[in-house]
Amino acid sequence: DTIGASLDRAVATWPDREALVDVPSGRRWTYARFGAAVDELASALLASGVAKGDRVGIWAVNCPEWVLVQYATARIGAIMVNINPAYRTHEVEYVLNQAGISLLFASLGHKTSDYRAMVEQVRGRCAGLREVVYFGDPSWDVLLGRGTPGARLDDDGLSCDDPINIQYTSGTTGFPKGATLSHHNILNNGYFVGEMIAYTEQDRVCIPVPFYHCFGMVMGNLAATSHGACIVIPAPSFDPKATLDGVQQERCTSLYGVPTMFIAELNLPGFASYDLSSLRTGIMAGSPCPGEVMKRVVNEMNMAEVSICYGMTETSPVSTQTRRDDDLEHRTGTVGRVLPHIEVKIVDPATGVTRPRGGAGELCTRGYSVMLGYWNEPEKTAEAVDAGRWMHTGDLAVMREDGYVEIVGRIKDMIIRGGENIYPREIEEFLYAHPKIQDVQVVGVPHDHYGEEVLACVIPHDPADPLTLDELHAFCQGRLAHYKIPSRLQLLDSFPMTVSGKVRKVELRERFAGGQR
Ligand code: ATP
Ligand code: MG
Repeated sequence: DTIGASLDRAVATWPDREALVDVPSGRRWTYARFGAAVDELASALLASGVAKGDRVGIWAVNCPEWVLVQYATARIGAIMVNINPAYRTHEVEYVLNQAGISLLFASLGHKTSDYRAMVEQVRGRCAGLREVVYFGDPSWDVLLGRGTPGARLDDDGLSCDDPINIQYTSGTTGFPKGATLSHHNILNNGYFVGEMIAYTEQDRVCIPVPFYHCFGMVMGNLAATSHGACIVIPAPSFDPKATLDGVQQERCTSLYGVPTMFIAELNLPGFASYDLSSLRTGIMAGSPCPGEVMKRVVNEMNMAEVSICYGMTETSPVSTQTRRDDDLEHRTGTVGRVLPHIEVKIVDPATGVTRPRGGAGELCTRGYSVMLGYWNEPEKTAEAVDAGRWMHTGDLAVMREDGYVEIVGRIKDMIIRGGENIYPREIEEFLYAHPKIQDVQVVGVPHDHYGEEVLACVIPHDPADPLTLDELHAFCQGRLAHYKIPSRLQLLDSFPMTVSGKVRKVELRERFAGGQR
């Protein structure tokens, strides 16, 4: 199916059920209204000269118009290009030109970001950019005014394998890469993710993660609409209080987040007074979840069926997922089993030979989910996707005997100290149990003798009573192998993060490479 055909079916099946709710503005759309609004916007895009294959940029924080643009561009086969809302002029100019964007949708502004001012600054240097439409601005009405009220569009001339979306990776390990994806890639993935957590038209899905990223727009929006569920937008950007307010007011059944978001919600003053009894499930993904956090999410947020997903932008994104009946051990220790119609193998990164079950190696995946390629970057595509169409993820993983996958860490994050391979994740999990540690990241930094040494970056619970290196050593002594025990400690108030909520370890490594500060 195309995304347009999938939406048509939802409209025909559940016309009166809610499709989209924006909590900040109180606006609501049933499937019938949502489908009509998408077709009207699509007809306005056609009337504005946007054709199949043209690139339409979107540089915005979460809002209902974001979702309308997602479906309207797919409806006509235009390629929507997601632009990171944290970008500034230099980066947005690069993307506008690199992707050849002719029409740009943007937020007017949010918090300290004045998107309109930034667009106006770079516009003169983007020759292909014909029109900019701001959400909540007369330019939006001008665009819609060109459309045909009551327009009904169909799938003529579209194919499931057409590119319809360029999504950027999080930029956790370097400059973000633009993965080009088809209807088939992301609609199937969203559908199966929704199947695994048994979405129906009764579900109401609270999405505080950015739509800009595949977590929001595929695992959120497409999973919801392919099952008749409702998309609930709690706020334009992540805010723990607005998220919990949204769940409570809208009686959401499902809540999304990366682990750091759940930590912020659990630690919000007044958390205990929220009524979260409507929740049953949700998705935690993007980075490893500490076991302690998982237990609290299940017990204190009522999310007994919460699902862990593993994936990457280049694979639409999800490759493995826990199932509803998995026990806590599998939800904390693994990222679940491989999704239907996807293959996974674990290979020795040096030789490419498949490892036996239980052995660690690079996770490679193949199937409908693998991207078409990086936009206009054939060399980078060839480095990531081999001739057999296997995507090399750069993640180290183990396939257990029972078919569950454990993520050990990223190849790039692995620390090699005096010839010993050290996985930061293992040490982080261990240190997380220290009462003075609120959050911890372990990275390798250069060392003259050992090549690399282990640095623990710690956010203390109480800055007035921080952890000392001696206390850290006393905690690890006799319980961790000597070479894994951090030789350096750095106290911080926060970690450098990507928009999708991941810690940028590269930045920590660079900042502290030169010794103690
Ligand atoms: P970049 O590729 O730009 O460095 P990125 O890899 O973080 O950034 P994404 O595509 O958003 O960009 O994230 C995919 C990566 O996130 C995976 O390759 C994996 O390292 C990590 N990841 C995703 N889900 C999980 C999970 N459940 N547990 C552990 N790690 C995960
Ligand atoms: Mg990546």
